Amino acid sequence: MKLQRVLQYAQFLLRQTVEEGDVVVDATAGNGYDTVFLAQLVGEKGHVYAFDVQQQAVNSTKNRLHEEGLSERVSVILDGHENVAHYINERISAAIFNLGYLPGSEHDIITKPNTTLKAIESLLGLVKVGGMIVLVVYYGHEGGKEERNQVIEYVSNLPQKKVHVLRYEFINQKNDPPFIIALEKMKEL
Ligand code: SAH
Repeated sequence: MKLQRVLQYAQFLLRQTVEEGDVVVDATAGNGYDTVFLAQLVGEKGHVYAFDVQQQAVNSTKNRLHEEGLSERVSVILDGHENVAHYINERISAAIFNLGYLPGSEHDIITKPNTTLKAIESLLGLVKVGGMIVLVVYYGHEGGKEERNQVIEYVSNLPQKKVHVLRYEFINQKNDPPFIIALEKMKEL
């Protein structure tokens, strides 16, 4: 296969962007797979801030990091990503979001348009020029299409000289497959 799958492409973008020693954000820790991936990318001298509003997600992320011996370079924070600026006052090189609900849990706790947009806005301020924000947009669940529409509306209107906005999507797949929105910061906003 020559066209990378959506999740592969998200990791590819992060690998292109993140260097050892960087500070990065996992905006939706969930089961912690991306947190581990980011912790490996930033290395011993880097740091990952991982957010989730569910204790269950925080626990499974912490367990996974512990198993991999990566706990020291990650702060797992039980709070919403809309509050990211309360926790970080340094430049980050990248952030990732997986929108939707935690796989394997009830579908009642999902990311929401207002808080997702607030987080994107804050992270656009924190990310350095050349840095990247990647969103994996799952929208098959109840409320998902509304969030997808609001995210697209917001990112479509970002000033093109300051942020390059990409949508990466397989357009002939059934059942609401996830797609990627990638924001590359080109200038201070
Ligand atoms: N749908 C994806 C996984 C999404 S996980 C998949 O199938 O792989 C989304 C995570 O975001 C959940 O663990 C949920 O608890 C978390 N979340 C919801 N609202 C949040 C918020 N405001 N801040 C941080 N995390 C949030």
